[in-house]
Amino acid sequence: SHRIMLGPLVAAIDQGTSSTRFLVFNSKTAELLSHHQVEIKQSFPKEGWVEEDPKEILQSVYECMERTCEKLTQLNIDISNIKAIGVTNQRETTLVWDKETGEPLYNAIVWLDLRTQSTVERLINKTPGRNKNHLKHKTGLPISTYFSAVKLRWLMDNVDEVHQAVVSHRAMFGTVDSWLIWCLTGGKSGGVHCTDVTNASRTMLFNIHTMDWDPELCKYFGIPMEILPRVRSSSEIYGLMKICSSRKSGALSGIPISGCLGDQSAALVGQMCFQDGQAKNTYGTGCFLLRNTGVKPVMSEHGLLTTVAYKLGRDKPACYALEGSVAIAGAVVRWLQDNLGIIGSSEELEKLAASVGTSYGCYFVPAFSGLYAPYWEPSARGIICGLTQFTNKSHLAFAALEAVCFQTREILDAMNQDSGIPLTQLQVDGGMTSNKLLMQLQADILCIPVVKPSMPETTALGAAMAAGAAEGVSVWSLNPEDLSEVTSEKFEPQINPEESEFRYARWKKAVEKSMNWET
Ligand code: ADP
Repeated sequence: SHRIMLGPLVAAIDQGTSSTRFLVFNSKTAELLSHHQVEIKQSFPKEGWVEEDPKEILQSVYECMERTCEKLTQLNIDISNIKAIGVTNQRETTLVWDKETGEPLYNAIVWLDLRTQSTVERLINKTPGRNKNHLKHKTGLPISTYFSAVKLRWLMDNVDEVHQAVVSHRAMFGTVDSWLIWCLTGGKSGGVHCTDVTNASRTMLFNIHTMDWDPELCKYFGIPMEILPRVRSSSEIYGLMKICSSRKSGALSGIPISGCLGDQSAALVGQMCFQDGQAKNTYGTGCFLLRNTGVKPVMSEHGLLTTVAYKLGRDKPACYALEGSVAIAGAVVRWLQDNLGIIGSSEELEKLAASVGTSYGCYFVPAFSGLYAPYWEPSARGIICGLTQFTNKSHLAFAALEAVCFQTREILDAMNQDSGIPLTQLQVDGGMTSNKLLMQLQADILCIPVVKPSMPETTALGAAMAAGAAEGVSVWSLNPEDLSEVTSEKFEPQINPEESEFRYARWKKAVEKSMNWET
């Protein structure tokens, strides 16, 4: 057996839209020692609705912790070396539960869900000048189906159990981080009801300048403030793990949960983007490009969001980011697989697309949940155009991958315009980055190199780093200057810029068609 110098270990729960992971890192080297992953079911009960089961989410966390602890034991690694656990999560996804029974009162409404489209349109119509940016000065966000406040409003208006629990002071609202931390620290017997500033900044109830819940915003959406979790920094002890001692993972009991970051913030931290101007793009279910703007919240002129990037300690300053959010990236792969059945797995997509190497003039705008940045158009719908008799499923597969790249190009352009300093390369991560064709296409369409770190679990690493920091365990002794030492893979643009511009211009035309669909 190999003997490795183990420093203190740090762990992370990474609860994403499509799966849950538990991961354990060696704090000295940031090496991933062991992990386990479980898929999460998504249900689509009506057109535009997307839900997940809060109990399944919680069970998946327990399952991942149990399997990871088993693997650690097999590796002869003592679980008691784990000093801190961080939580990172799909953002905006909205839950309400009963604090007395511990039971969720409805499914989790997933961030992609469109059921609040009419509410959103009504709210925008009521603002002076029909301005979707009416609340942006406080929240950094446009009024959209994306954020939690409208989802919570829907639950209070349409689910009797939620309404009743609110009236009788038994309701707790939370995003996935709050739900997990509450359950993992004891649930109905003493669980801690909290969230961190990054998750709070995605609710539309949080003032990103005062860094607290905003009474006016709560009033605007009719949300009673007593159901909101307490807002904490992204790195401090929230509570201690309480977990059934009859299982292997029972050994995790008593370990502090001391880090919490929304997934995109965690990826920014995990990619070491601590300097003003540094950016990363994460390709998961959706696609999210965040650029650190330091201690100053910068308001976008080009359809980007202003969001809290992280606050790594109670007494540390908050840092902000400009964010370009794309709703559908990996989700289009799942759609091709589940709805059309033209691929059996996400890996097959790459082979299929590579077999033709072109979309043959076919453009696919996957506006399944409307369009997010930079358009914020909830009424947009998906469109596939440019078809001929010649088009086949391989071209469609290629067009789907290209769509992810074009959407990133749009938010990168917006980011460059807002900051005035163009990015010279793009740091990437997320599940889709295992697709090399996608990465090459991305470099071609952006006309700048795309750089992918060899350790792909940057989101989890970010949460583990935040958790470690609160416990005096610093993960990885690397300075940002030493980043070049980190092994990474680089994709250089290979097509000429004219070709790239031509395709991008066609894409823009297709986007226009997707937006004028309903009129
Ligand atoms: P999330 O954090 O949103 O749950 P992940 O970062 O785990 O997402 O990435 C999962 C997504 O990546 C899925 O939507 C899946 O379809 C997509 N994906 C995974 N592998 C590939 C691949 N080789 N090619 C294209 N898409 C992929």
